[in-house]
Amino acid sequence: MLTLIKNGEIYAPHYLGKKDLLIVDQKIGFISEQITIPENFVDITVLDAEGKLVVPGFIDAHVHITGGGGEGSFHTRTPELQLTDATLSGVTTIIGVIGTDGTTRTMSNLIAKARGLEEEGITCFVQTGSYQVPLKTLTGKIEDDIILVDKIIGVGEVAIADHRSSQPTVEEMAKIASAARIGGLLSGKAGIVNVHVGDSYDHLKVIEEVVERTDIPIRQFYPTHINRNPHLFEEGIRFAKKGGYVDFTTSTIPKFFDEGEVKCSIGLKRMLDMQIDISQITFTSDGQASLPDFDEFGELLGLKLGKVETLFKEVRAAVLEEGIPLEVALRVITQNPATILKLNKKGMISEGKDADLVLLNKEDYSINTVFALGKRMVEDGKAIVKGTFE
Ligand code: ZN
Repeated sequence: MLTLIKNGEIYAPHYLGKKDLLIVDQKIGFISEQITIPENFVDITVLDAEGKLVVPGFIDAHVHITGGGGEGSFHTRTPELQLTDATLSGVTTIIGVIGTDGTTRTMSNLIAKARGLEEEGITCFVQTGSYQVPLKTLTGKIEDDIILVDKIIGVGEVAIADHRSSQPTVEEMAKIASAARIGGLLSGKAGIVNVHVGDSYDHLKVIEEVVERTDIPIRQFYPTHINRNPHLFEEGIRFAKKGGYVDFTTSTIPKFFDEGEVKCSIGLKRMLDMQIDISQITFTSDGQASLPDFDEFGELLGLKLGKVETLFKEVRAAVLEEGIPLEVALRVITQNPATILKLNKKGMISEGKDADLVLLNKEDYSINTVFALGKRMVEDGKAIVKGTFE
């Protein structure tokens, strides 16, 4: 199957200029100034991308694909992700995580859902475990999960600094990180520990102490929700100055901003102004998570649902509102997560990579067309491939 995309301006995410791009089956086959097809050539779809920007398919590295939450009892367990929640948002690669509820949400179910999303057309991996320590894995051991199960690429999300976390000690975190590290080394995977950081004032202390007391490198950890409050954000800057990765969560509700949550686009600008290297920063949506609102006594006031569509919205805001160049802002949802998570075929437009592409309308950076593994999923902003039950 051949698809030729002509006249698009390619951001790889670095700017390549106006080029033609040929998709061969599931891969990016050729990128060239001009690709011409001989007359009467075999089956080929030609797409004129004049006035469009061609960018890599987005990677959302923290999504509750089987649903999450449930902090307001069983009826508040959030629903599963549907295919078009991802594709309409330009997301072609997802990393699934469990979250708060490691009892009714299981690894078997998470892997089955990841396989389902793959059968429907996008790429999906998962992390092993949930908020709680000791981790509930698939095989009984972290390293075995990562080494033996293709879909499992690391650990997460393990919760710290949160009233819902099991308050892991430095020793417990060190053991998790070293098991993840060994699993990653022996399987060629990232083997990273995705850490949920809550609102408590311990912030990143547990993982920083692991780094101080052992020779586990700081980049073994991938802390998320760094923008959730102003004091954690400042700690995030300090952590990044030591070389650590920082992940911002794009799903939010207005009340969180009133309480001091840092809007991702503004946070990105601030980190760059603080001389944090762009390669250390990523955005994830926390899609399908419950966004619970607790009062000062820990009583649940209400909850909303995290949305994958917020991922690119914040990148777009970083460009349009904060003046960050597109090729820089794009990195937080393309090249950076691909590098951090060792997804070697993802996150960039170059020959031989997977044909995951998003075509943006140049005038307003809205999503026009989405390709996942060479297949067109979205056309003129509408889903042309739907999930099985959509
Ligand atoms: Zn979380």
